Amino acid sequence: MSFDYDLFVIGGGSGGVRAARVAAQEGVKVALAEEDRYGGTCVIRGCVPKKLMVFASEYAGMVEDAQAYGWDIQAGSFSWDAFKGKLHAELDRLEGIYRNILKNNGVESFDQRAKLADAHTVELADGTRKTAKHILIATGGWPTVPEFPGAELAITSNEIFHLDALPESILIVGGGYIASEFAGIMNGLGVKTTQFYRGAQILRGFDEEARNVVAEGMAEAGVDLQLNTNVTEMRAEGGKIRVFDTHGKEHLFDKVMYATGRAPNADNLGLEDIGVARGGNGAIVVDAYSQTAVPSVFAVGDVTDRVNLTPVAIREGMAFVETVFKGNPTSPDHDLIPTAIFTQPEMGTVGLSEEEAAAQEAIEVYSTSFKPMQQAFAGRAQKVLMKLVVSKANRRVLGCHIVAPGAGEMIQLAGIAVKMGATKEDFDRTVAVHPTMSEELVTLKTPVRAT
Ligand code: NDP
Repeated sequence: MSFDYDLFVIGGGSGGVRAARVAAQEGVKVALAEEDRYGGTCVIRGCVPKKLMVFASEYAGMVEDAQAYGWDIQAGSFSWDAFKGKLHAELDRLEGIYRNILKNNGVESFDQRAKLADAHTVELADGTRKTAKHILIATGGWPTVPEFPGAELAITSNEIFHLDALPESILIVGGGYIASEFAGIMNGLGVKTTQFYRGAQILRGFDEEARNVVAEGMAEAGVDLQLNTNVTEMRAEGGKIRVFDTHGKEHLFDKVMYATGRAPNADNLGLEDIGVARGGNGAIVVDAYSQTAVPSVFAVGDVTDRVNLTPVAIREGMAFVETVFKGNPTSPDHDLIPTAIFTQPEMGTVGLSEEEAAAQEAIEVYSTSFKPMQQAFAGRAQKVLMKLVVSKANRRVLGCHIVAPGAGEMIQLAGIAVKMGATKEDFDRTVAVHPTMSEELVTLKTPVRAT
């Protein structure tokens, strides 16, 4: 049977574009459909604009630090309009790059929604049908807001980059990556920022000591972090939002942003009709090779809800191409993924938290928390944390947790050592780079705790 294409990709985000490009470079005939903007969550409404906002939000603190270092400078005011204009121009530029990647590699793209009509047929929104030997679904995820009275008044991370003006006050609900990152951003931009988290400490699942250092740092920087607190109801009130919380208290905010999780974008794709199985939260169920229950249909990235990170979606896309088009069955490696949370202070982490490791085997914990030289000189109170969780049995570093300026950059490199199976003694054999913060990772002498 002959098909229009060897591969039809649905979704032009990180995973889909990478798979389309790498497959096309193998001489495979590829098409891709995207209903929204190319680049997906990461480029258009996630990692990239978020990080640019983190940068924007850090300048006020830098001006204060510069004064402490003897510079006679004053912070002016922040222009959201000026920043927003540049931000969106940059996103347009990046979207153009994504489009060009496809065009220059001979991938035919369709700027419309696509769904599956059968195991080898895709139907575009205009009714056109295209056949393909393989179909890859890379449709990502979407923010979810729980149901409660007034929920429609909330914005999500999708809208935060498009605000007409910066609010004077904002409530951010949630304690995950997105909520905690945006609490820092908004606070840094001068918005009076409150964060509600329903549990006892933000960033559940990460190393507890590291979470505590992040939360302390955020509170010191001015975020009004209210733990064990949730919203029961919201009402519009003269352009503002009145919020009722679980303690019976009322608050008035200009904006409320919900960052309470994301759901796979897998509805109305025709999946059920052709037998593609979906899991509990709607994610497409795939095997170790990203293959669905229908052998010609594969899925990568957030729509599969494995590890929802851009570099992971990219790896999954490349492993799919290796498997299907290069005759080299490859399952993406989801073990020991280093990651950064761009809170202020920033956190970088790889491997097991102290709690996870202790539940698994006997461990030693090496950690130090201190005021770093640059900030201490400027009179800042924020502390950094350098921590290693070590297996007693084989001395391997099971987890490395860093809370510090530049922690994301540091954990990328520490991640190599941990991925290679480095022991505590391997870290110790490495000469310190002095004076740096990260040198503490190779000079941690005695365990602070052991199990
Ligand atoms: P997360 O799943 O990380 O966090 C959701 C948060 O919302 C949790 O604190 C959760 O609480 C809380 N929550 C869930 N339901 C409710 C509810 N009904 N009422 C109140 N609170 C609720 O989701 P995010 O949206 O923050 O991020 C989605 C994913 O995006 C992440 O998992 C991550 O993979 C990715 N991401 C990665 C980034 C990075 O690498 N730097 C940055 C941004 C996103 P509880 O803990 O109690 O369940």
